Amino acid sequence: MIDVELIIRSIERLCKVATSTAVDIAERTLSLKELDERDCRFVLECDDPIDLELLRLCALYLKLRTSGTYVTFVCNRNINFTNICVIGCNFCNYSVPPGHPSGYVLSLKEVERKVRESVRHRVTEVCLQGGVNPELKLDYYISLLRTVKKVDDKIHVHAFSPQEIYSLSRRESLNIDEILKVLRENGLDTLPGTAAEILCDDVRKIICPRKIKTAEWVGIIERAHMLGIKTTCTIMYGHIERIEHVVRHFRILRDIQRRTRGFTEIVLLPFIHYNTRLREISGCRSGSSSLYDIRICIAARLYLYPYITNIQVSWVKLGRKLAQYLLTCGANDIGGTLMEENISHAAGAFERESMSREELIDLISSIGMVPAERDTLYNIVRVYQSGNKSSALSGTTGSSLVEYYQ
Ligand code: SF4
Repeated sequence: MIDVELIIRSIERLCKVATSTAVDIAERTLSLKELDERDCRFVLECDDPIDLELLRLCALYLKLRTSGTYVTFVCNRNINFTNICVIGCNFCNYSVPPGHPSGYVLSLKEVERKVRESVRHRVTEVCLQGGVNPELKLDYYISLLRTVKKVDDKIHVHAFSPQEIYSLSRRESLNIDEILKVLRENGLDTLPGTAAEILCDDVRKIICPRKIKTAEWVGIIERAHMLGIKTTCTIMYGHIERIEHVVRHFRILRDIQRRTRGFTEIVLLPFIHYNTRLREISGCRSGSSSLYDIRICIAARLYLYPYITNIQVSWVKLGRKLAQYLLTCGANDIGGTLMEENISHAAGAFERESMSREELIDLISSIGMVPAERDTLYNIVRVYQSGNKSSALSGTTGSSLVEYYQ
């Protein structure tokens, strides 16, 4: 089992041989001081193996301080209700334009069937996201929410990206608050903080030129937080962005969280390039290297502390082994069971579309961490000891991991 004292001793040993900048960051991390943008940049550019190992242990130290040896996962299901989209992001191979022969919109009956199936698998969250389809009116979105809640009103509905909220508000000539309130009244619980990609308009105009701008994404997220609707936040990296864009992206997220405390987590999303138009654009990388994935994870933990303390790595995009390793680089959550995954697979992801509860438990316990199923808001649903399904401890329901460890 990973032990905080052992990590501190290892950090102290490495401080004797690391560079002065890395040692300075380590010392401030151990005294729980906030890092600045220069520190964040240093982590993202670090290519000295000793420095990088020191920073990794610092990220692991902060993870252990905030969530102990627990690594969480959520039993959820994605339902992508339409692939018709007029936005046409260059990294997206999931969507098709209106009129395309493979375009679809799920009927409410089909959505209901998927939700009923999810309930049989003890899913606690349904994530509804789709393309920006001009044919779909507010009534359809309301019916989607009601359909889920009609099957089981305890299911948490995590739905509709800031892009979908923006486009819906335009289509219905309602402001953002009005749209959010109507959706909340009809069953919306939280919003996914997708469509963030990289919050820098210079990058957005190349990777997703018709998507909402940075200020619009920030505005919608802040309105949601002000109305008491929590959201996640995301970063999609490994394409054309430079280090300064990542630093700026993290700074924007940290500043929002400082003001609103409305983010439940950050989800780190490496770009899957295989089947995308973006890979043809000059200067676009073929996804991220594993070393870059590691640096991003360490930087997210160190720089976003103490504001955003839940760092999720995506097993479906990274692959299970790299995702597992990132759990020792500051991440504390491995995402969800998903049940179905369309978007990463359309872009060429190799991993399967779903992972069972038991597989996630094994994946976590085999690296000496304690698997804990959580709900969308990071309340613990169940803790599993020794990774053994039969020795699952029920309990600690409703206690937040962060509160538990503070
Ligand atoms: S990422 Fe979303 S908004 Fe962009 S093209 Fe795909 S479905 Fe449409």
